[in-house]
Amino acid sequence: MKKISTLLVLLFLVGNAHAIELPESRNVPGGVVVVPLYLDGQAMPSATFQDRKVMVIRDNNRWLAITGIPLKLKPGEYRLTTVADGKTNHYPINVVNKKYPVQRLTIKNKRKVYPNKSDLKRINAEREEIGKAFVVWSHNPEPPLKFDLPTQGRFSSQFGLQRFYNDSPRPRRHSALDIAAPTGTPVHAPAAGTVINVGDYYFTGNSIFLDHGQGLITQYIHLSKVDVPVGMRVERGQKIGEVGATGRVTGPHLHWGVILNQTMIDPMPFVRADSLERNQAYLEQVSRNGGRKVGGS
Ligand SMILES: [Zn+2]
Repeated sequence: MKKISTLLVLLFLVGNAHAIELPESRNVPGGVVVVPLYLDGQAMPSATFQDRKVMVIRDNNRWLAITGIPLKLKPGEYRLTTVADGKTNHYPINVVNKKYPVQRLTIKNKRKVYPNKSDLKRINAEREEIGKAFVVWSHNPEPPLKFDLPTQGRFSSQFGLQRFYNDSPRPRRHSALDIAAPTGTPVHAPAAGTVINVGDYYFTGNSIFLDHGQGLITQYIHLSKVDVPVGMRVERGQKIGEVGATGRVTGPHLHWGVILNQTMIDPMPFVRADSLERNQAYLEQVSRNGGRKVGGS
């Protein structure tokens, strides 16, 4: 019976070979929303949300707009705007509340919490440099919308946490997923992309930004090692660097960020179920080995 159902699943997958894998749509701050567009033209419509250009893809015979919802957006009714054939349309997006937990951390290096004057100069210059990666827009009619986890390990900080550093509240939330892993653990590209920024920054340490097209950017920070230069095309699964503890950290981990329409959003809706299962199996194996790292990763 199991064999038959496996076969049926395979046939189903083959039959839907052109179906696009979509992220899990959730209309919450920090979420990603997939909006079907009622437009039958063949020319790609343009879409905006909160005055920012939004990804549009073709899924069989329909257009879909895929927009990130900023963490700071208050619950309420917003709208996505499209322009096609000279006509403007609006689509309502009703953003509902999501409660994110609080996290308190102690940072031993006080200067990483209270930077001095020269640090601030460096931070401001870097902010401008990093900001350029956020606004990259490259043409790609079929951007990848499902990701493998870039490394294996425990999720040490979820997206959206309200943080306190050494009892001082931070105005910005934790806008990425932290995966704890020993220094030197390989970090792989979760999907094909192009390296658009590499740097060693004050807060984020050794950092890489990958562009996947149409405003979908991923960020890898606190690395101990960077293997890829700016401009390099990387394939899904290619090693791009190694986990580390550079920048403002409490220990080695990968801080993995996903940016869409210049907005930091939760990476989890993009992660493939089989990648999560492999990570879970890996963690269980580690705990059976008394916490020792297993395998080659
Ligand atoms: Zn983090």
